[in-house]
Amino acid sequence: MSDLSNKVILTVAPTGAWPQKSDTPYIPITPEEIADDVYKCWEAGASVAHIHVRDDEGKASMDFEKFEKTVKLIRERCDIVLNLTTSGGLGLTDEIRMKPFVELRPEMASYDCGSMNWLHTSVFENSPRFLEKLGLKMQECDVKPEIEVFDAGMVYNALYYLKKGVLKPPLHFQFVLGAAGGMTATVENLVFLKSLIPEDATWGALGIGKGHLPILYTTLALGGHVRVGMEDNIFYAPKQLAKSNAEFVERTKRIVAEMGKEIATPDEARKILYLKNHNKKL
Ligand code: ZN
Repeated sequence: MSDLSNKVILTVAPTGAWPQKSDTPYIPITPEEIADDVYKCWEAGASVAHIHVRDDEGKASMDFEKFEKTVKLIRERCDIVLNLTTSGGLGLTDEIRMKPFVELRPEMASYDCGSMNWLHTSVFENSPRFLEKLGLKMQECDVKPEIEVFDAGMVYNALYYLKKGVLKPPLHFQFVLGAAGGMTATVENLVFLKSLIPEDATWGALGIGKGHLPILYTTLALGGHVRVGMEDNIFYAPKQLAKSNAEFVERTKRIVAEMGKEIATPDEARKILYLKNHNKKL
């Protein structure tokens, strides 16, 4: 295996909770569509897939059967690292939010490290009670938390849970910039967030919408890992919808190569993030 310091983990987030077919006909919604899309992204070189599912109406959902089917279809076809959301919908019980990773044992799951006024319309609730329970349950299941950070206070929350033993080092952060209610997608904000995390932590970042490319380039320049996909951004260029998530993967591969770096394979991502490869046991 070659030098890992030059490897960039590329996560694809194909679906997310919000975009609808009416926003872009190219967004994968059903388990079959999501699995096909993830497979194409894996073929194009993606290291990790961050998965949300939708209900039969296409709305955000934590429906266990949909996760089960999606995960099965992906695992049958490729060895991409799986990262399941724990926040695919608002106002759900702790158990519903945790069941997919508890039962399906992806190697990673999201850990949204604080609450936020989401899109100025609702509360994205991640209470202290839930975050303690979630951190300990992830340790029990050997699932690595991807600590999603929407503003700087969430980094301080993570450091608190690290001290308390709810999170174990080395931490892995995902800075989400440009969400309405969170920090804006600027270079200054990303540099500041990176300055707050422990030395041994790994991190990635993404910009939502038009912040996508500026944050992608900044993240690469700062030595971070990257995320692309229609969860964050449906446009390949101004007024031009991406026709597939693989288009984003292909473009990022070219940018990364021009910077003299390489995209990490799934197994290289497992080493960089110290993941337990549950796929091997299945
Ligand atoms: Zn997500």
